[in-house]
Parts: sequence; C-alpha cells; structure tokens
Amino acid sequence: MYDFVVIKYSEIGTKGKNRKVFESKLMNNIILQLNHKVTAKKIYGRIIVTPKENKKIDKNMLNSLKKVFGIKSISPAIEVKKDYEDIRNNIIKLLKDKNITSGSFKVDSRRTDKSFPIRSFDLNKNLGADILDEFPDLFVDVHNPDYLIRVEIRHELAFVYLENIECFAGYPVGAGGKASIMLSGGIDSPVAAWIMMKRGMKLNAISFYSPPSNNEKTVMKLIELSKKLSEFYPFNFYHYIIPFTEVQLAIKNLNIESYSLIMQRRSMLRIASKLAKHTQSNALITGENLGQVASQTLENMITISDATDMLILRPLVGYEKLEIVKKAQEIGTYDISIWPYKDSCVAFLPKKPATKSFPDKMKKYEEKINNLLELELNALKNSLVYVIKNGEVIDNYVFSDKEVFKSE
Ligand code: ATP
Ligand code: MG
Repeated sequence: MYDFVVIKYSEIGTKGKNRKVFESKLMNNIILQLNHKVTAKKIYGRIIVTPKENKKIDKNMLNSLKKVFGIKSISPAIEVKKDYEDIRNNIIKLLKDKNITSGSFKVDSRRTDKSFPIRSFDLNKNLGADILDEFPDLFVDVHNPDYLIRVEIRHELAFVYLENIECFAGYPVGAGGKASIMLSGGIDSPVAAWIMMKRGMKLNAISFYSPPSNNEKTVMKLIELSKKLSEFYPFNFYHYIIPFTEVQLAIKNLNIESYSLIMQRRSMLRIASKLAKHTQSNALITGENLGQVASQTLENMITISDATDMLILRPLVGYEKLEIVKKAQEIGTYDISIWPYKDSCVAFLPKKPATKSFPDKMKKYEEKINNLLELELNALKNSLVYVIKNGEVIDNYVFSDKEVFKSE
C-alpha cells in the first residue's frame, strides 16, 4: 500500500563534510541491507527509499530498514498529487486500510511548495472536516491525538503518512573503523558486537571451540548468532571459528588448574590479534563485564589484556546483567545464546578459577609450553571461515585453503 519510506536520521555531530559522508554511507547501507531492491535519494534533509520496478513497500523492506544503523525513524508514505481531492481521498483510504475508525486525530500539513494554492492552516481545517464527515466516531484532538495525519507538499513531491516508527539511530556501519568481536556462544558478546556495530564499526567475528567434543552444534550455534548480527550489517560478515583444543590440552598439561582459564584467554587474544591484523581490524571487542564471573575481576582483565598490544573495547563493562539480557532479547540473539551447546569444552574449565593473577607469572607458564606459538598459529590456519550476508551463509572454507597468513 505504501509507495516509499521517508527516513529521518540523526544529524547531531554530523556537520559540513562529515554530514555528506554520513548521508552517502547511510544511503549506500540502506541499498545493501535491502539487497538492491530499492533506490535511495536525499531531499530536504530526509532520505526517500523507493522500491524498484514500481513495486510497493512491503513488510520485509520495513523490517530490514528498521535494522539499518544511522536511521532515527521511518515513515511509510503514500504519494499524492498536488490536488486537494487526491490528498483527501488518499487519507481516507489510508485510514480505512489501517482500520482506524474511532479515536482522536490531528492533521498536520506542511507546504514548502507555495505554488500549491491552499495554506497549511486551511488544509488542516478542510481535511479535518472531511475526515469527520467520513468517520463519525473520530474526533479532533490537537494536543494529544491518537493519530497524527501528516501531509507534506514539497517541491519535489507530495505525500501523506501516519506512522513515525522509531529505529535504533547510531551511525552507519563503516563510519567508525573496523574491529573483531570475540564471539562466544554466550549472551554478552553478541550484544557487545551489536553495540559497536551501532556505533558505526565494521566487524568480523572470532570464536574458539574445542573439537571434537563440541563440534557441529557449537559451530551451528555460533553461525546462528552471526546470521542474526548480519541482519544489521550491510556488508559480508566474516566469522572465523578457531579449533582451540590443541592449545587447551597444552595448557591443561601444565597442571595449574586455577590459572588455566586466564592462560586460555591470553592465548585467544594472541591468536585473535594476529587474525585481526590480517583482516585489518584496529581493535578487539569482548563481552567482558566487571565482576560478573570470577574470572572477570579487574586484576584478571589486566593480566588478559597484557597478552596483546591491541586496543580492547569492552562495551558492556559497566552494564547490569539484566540490561544485557533485555538488549539480547530485543535484537534477537538471546534465544540462540541460551541453546545449551558450550563454546569451549567444559573439561578445560577450572572448577575454581583464580580471581587474582599476574602477567609475569602467566608468561613463565607460557614459556613452559615450548611450541605454544606454533600451536596458536596452527589453530588459526585450521579455522573455519563462514561468510554471511543478510542472514545467510554465502560461503565457507578452511582458512588456509583460501587465505594466506601474511607473517609467514
Ligand atoms: P559471554 O556471555 O559473551 O560468553 P560471559 O559473561 O559468559 O560472556 P566469559 O565466558 O568469561 O563471560 O567471556 C568473556 C568474553 O571473552 C566473552 O564475552 C567473549 O568476548 C570472550 N570469549 C570467551 N570465550 C570465548 C570463545 N570461546 N570464543 C571467542 N571469544 C570468547
Ligand atoms: Mg561465556
């Protein structure tokens, strides 16, 4: 029923040249996220998204638009002729289609095209009267109407709309650098990924798993999470799933159970940093949260970070668990995160992880594993790579079959 969508975007902090970049990135991302089924053009500080081939806006298009970061709100609109009768008829049709027959309303017209002969004030009044005639159970409330009927008479075109659907705002993906998200199968890291994507970051994902003990189902769960995230992402989303068992075994053989988790995390960070450099990511993102579990103390965060010189972003560090759960439900990752398949084999997890640790001590332990770097590099080369676009896997391969690690 709708001809196009009128898009409002946040302009705060985006002045001058930046604003142009913001707008062109946003338009580009809209087209990519809607699989080239639409065109996007800018008029009077709005973006108008129109389906190609004279099609109408459908539900899928609206759902996809809601997931484009940088968009503040969307209004599905109906194009009208610059003619009173046509405007009135279309409003009446719209109200009927939406089954709006009772409650309060207000007509709010804007006329920037002064060649249209009726002033906004009169347009509001006349349209209001005609609507009352047609719908005896509707009444006018100019202060707090149930339905705000908007009419816009612009130079370029004229249209009417009812809804103003709030979206996530944020920045267009690609406006904020590139990072790698350390994606576990848990609740937190997908939310961390989403938050940084919303800040405009390009992302890829890095996950560690322990084959063969938690093979297919874990990989499937991780990919499902990426598929969800990819719905908010205009580009190909790369997910590197790294077999970590050999490294875990070597750490386990040191028999220092309480530190094994921290050692594993340090190793994950070293591997992730190598991969991040390979993929030109400038930062790593984790779902860490201060004090949420024994391993996430400030001391341990310091010891873990010491394993890399890359910037680590922890967008959830000060969040309440409940806030994270709510966010995960809102973006649709929660139901996947609670699947029971563990990302890492429980056999490698200490019963009582240490809450205090020191980098130097960990380095001494690491030196005892003389082939640690080799094991880590091997893990990386054997990783499974999944390429995901708009919720679907479009390619998958083993890292070393297609990609060459540069420091070799
Ligand atoms: P999450 O809900 O994200 O799993 P958590 O509260 O369970 O977080 P941990 O399991 O201690 O906390 O993990 C802390 C962070 O370390 C994760 O958010 C993630 O970024 C990273 N991480 C942990 N395990 C893995 C893994 N197997 N693969 C990739 N990253 C991981
Ligand atoms: Mg976890």
